[in-house]
Amino acid sequence: MRNLVAKVKCDTYDLDQVEAGIRKIFDQLGNIETVVAKGKKVLLKPNLVSPLPPEKAATTHPVVLEALVKILQDMGIKEIWIGDAGVHGTPKIFSVCGINAIAEKYGCKVCDFDRYEIDEVFEDTNKYMKKLPLSKYVTEADVIINMPKVKIHHAEIYTGAIKNLYGTLVGKNKMQIHARTQTKDNFEEVLVDVLNVVKPQLHIMDGIIGMEGNGPANGKPVQTGMLLGSYNAVALDIVAIRQIGIDLKEVTYVEKAIRRGLGPKAEEVQEIGDDIPVVVYERPTVALKILGRVAQRLMPVFYYLFKPVPVFDPSNCTKCGICKEICPVEAITIKDLPAVDKKLCISCFCCQEACFSDAIERSDIKKSGKKCGRGGA
Ligand code: SF4
Ligand code: SF4
Repeated sequence: MRNLVAKVKCDTYDLDQVEAGIRKIFDQLGNIETVVAKGKKVLLKPNLVSPLPPEKAATTHPVVLEALVKILQDMGIKEIWIGDAGVHGTPKIFSVCGINAIAEKYGCKVCDFDRYEIDEVFEDTNKYMKKLPLSKYVTEADVIINMPKVKIHHAEIYTGAIKNLYGTLVGKNKMQIHARTQTKDNFEEVLVDVLNVVKPQLHIMDGIIGMEGNGPANGKPVQTGMLLGSYNAVALDIVAIRQIGIDLKEVTYVEKAIRRGLGPKAEEVQEIGDDIPVVVYERPTVALKILGRVAQRLMPVFYYLFKPVPVFDPSNCTKCGICKEICPVEAITIKDLPAVDKKLCISCFCCQEACFSDAIERSDIKKSGKKCGRGGA
């Protein structure tokens, strides 16, 4: 069952069509009533990285959530929770991304992961973080349905099912882990540790309109026309990566998850359903990739010289101070404008993901002159 990925062609956010698409996914996967059984508390975990409206394609579209809620209620599921926590301003995110409206219409509970207790879960088989600070909403749910959005990610190349689960960690821990891990390799092991603990029972991906370029928050919407479903995060990510024209070898955290036995190998994945054309996504620049993979390994000399840091755009900056508040290593100061201490900066770009004003770019992308979209889990 874990090798199966159901693919449904869907080109619109029309509620009836999306609902029909998800029902088709359930039929293709089979056994859905045993996975999501009556009487269970079901937590839906969309990708709500930023308070950006659905048309920006940074977040899981509310129509996909609404369609799934309708189907679950038809199946007799009474307790449905919708939860996440953004880098900053989660209540605003729930409002702008259409979550509050759905919750009100269907009687679901909105769960701000940062406004509840933390459950520190110990897992001896984890590689980098044995103890994970999860929101108690995550550990109290009987069933978790992961609802990622297909997007390019400025540092990890791709973000989908596995990466979306990083949002189950609570509050500032998300930023602090960037500071603790220091290297891309270590950070990726944490992503896999989170998957190893959270293990959602089902994954439904919004790939109707994805995000290319400078994702995860500031790229460009791109019509992709797919809904994907799977009981396994790794299998789903493998298929989504193929559908957007990326070589799996480049998405090293997915390869790590395969090596740790958390999903099938690429050749074992079984795709069922519609034949959906590949849409090759615009990617981060070559300069960014080189800096991300090579310079970090050559620390400290080359890394200091070439490491990407945030560049602030005075015409967009409102001096709100969120970037300063978010930075896990206190590398940002604000006088007239924000400024970054290059020595302290660890290039995590949490500041960029948190900036509502599109006022932060990466120095490497700017210098190369090949900006991908506007900038942006
Ligand atoms: S760069 Fe963005 S987050 Fe930072 S102060 Fe300016 S508007 Fe606020
Ligand atoms: S300045 Fe931005 S990129 Fe640098 S460490 Fe702080 S949050 Fe991360």
